[in-house]
Amino acid sequence: MLMGLPVDVIGGGVAGLAVATALAQRGAKVQVLERAPEISEVGAGLQISPNGAAVLAALGQGDALREAGIVSHAVELRDFRAGQTVLRLDLSRHNTGPHPFVLIHRARLIGILEAAAREAGVEISLSRHITGGDGRSGGIVLGADGVHSWMRSELNGAAEPFFTGQVAWRALIEDRGAPPEAHVYMGPGRHLVTYPLAGGLRNIVAVEERSEWTAEGWNHEDDPANLRAAFAGFAPEVRGWLDRVTKANLWGLFRHPVAARWHSDSKAILGDAAHPTLPFLAQGANMALEDAWVLADCLAHRPPPDALALYQARRRDRVVRVIEAANANARNYHLRNPAVRGLAHAALRVGGAIAPGAALRRFAWLYDYDVTDGAKSAMHSE
Ligand SMILES: Cc1cc2nc3c(=O)[nH]c(=O)nc-3n(C[C@H](O)[C@H](O)[C@H](O)COP(=O)(O)OP(=O)(O)OC[C@H]3O[C@@H](n4cnc5c(N)ncnc54)[C@H](O)[C@@H]3O)c2cc1C
Repeated sequence: MLMGLPVDVIGGGVAGLAVATALAQRGAKVQVLERAPEISEVGAGLQISPNGAAVLAALGQGDALREAGIVSHAVELRDFRAGQTVLRLDLSRHNTGPHPFVLIHRARLIGILEAAAREAGVEISLSRHITGGDGRSGGIVLGADGVHSWMRSELNGAAEPFFTGQVAWRALIEDRGAPPEAHVYMGPGRHLVTYPLAGGLRNIVAVEERSEWTAEGWNHEDDPANLRAAFAGFAPEVRGWLDRVTKANLWGLFRHPVAARWHSDSKAILGDAAHPTLPFLAQGANMALEDAWVLADCLAHRPPPDALALYQARRRDRVVRVIEAANANARNYHLRNPAVRGLAHAALRVGGAIAPGAALRRFAWLYDYDVTDGAKSAMHSE
């Protein structure tokens, strides 16, 4: 169905490059139109979980992912002040399977996807800011243009994304010898996630609740002193890392509800364009990868109008569930009342001691799901 089909993909981020690769590998004639003058990414890390790693493996990039990243052994939730472990999620079961948890620099992931896209024959056009138009005749246009997507507005009516009341600093420091694990320090109204990246780097994402976001853009460079002040009450190791931050970017976290309409007969949106996902479950890029695979799979098996409707049907409920789980994490990480926080952490400690694997098993629906598995995809297709 895809052989020679013209497809224009707007946006060269994770979603755009992944769907372009998946379509071109199946014979479509794909061009990516990216507004930036080069394919690049702000310096920061990403956690790719097994459900996202499965898509990269199906695109032929499983080895590249492992080589460019660090296989993560665990996620630890920690108390903000003492830094004590509240709950440890041991990821070794996943890492002995085909699709590991990987900690990777965003630029490296984008580099892997860009190389895969070019190898599959995708044409990448830079400095192309697309805000309308119908694409090539008889073809498909895909909006992978992120949270401010114009195609989302075209399909759903104009609606500005809203500020969620949270901001996130992202920073990288040099730090060798850190264990291959992600650590989440949970404090009142704020939390900090940190993990190592290849090349002797440590990634830091620090989220704080705020009533307002007044900056003109949604992302700008901030004085690292503000980051240090916001997390001054955190454990000594956290303060030590923050003391070494020389450059920090601050993001207002914006959302809009999951789009009601993801497609017309010849257009579709994917990734953050369809469903901006807060970073509290580290799933935005993973969902973008899953979307990309399912969209290409649907187009490979059905004519476009049916394929695009099937794509939305196969994706929407799962994405809504992921976003709700991420929102719940935000609430649970940021408990303000010390008594409530103490009880919640005690319950997690006891639960982790009695049944160490139980907390991770509760997320089997998320991490064990493989959109590239034909049998499972068929199951979800009707
Ligand atoms: C602090 C933070 C931490 C995160 N951590 C994780 C994590 O650990 N794991 C995870 O899975 N996710 C994480 N995410 C989420 C993840 O970054 C996003 O969900 C993911 O990047 C979405 O990919 P995308 O391709 O849909 O959109 P984007 O990455 O936003 O890409 C959109 C692309 O489209 C281009 N573009 C936009 N408009 C136009 C236009 N009009 N014309 C042409 N091009 C255009 C842009 O330049 C950009 O290249 C995090 C997010 C944040 C903010």
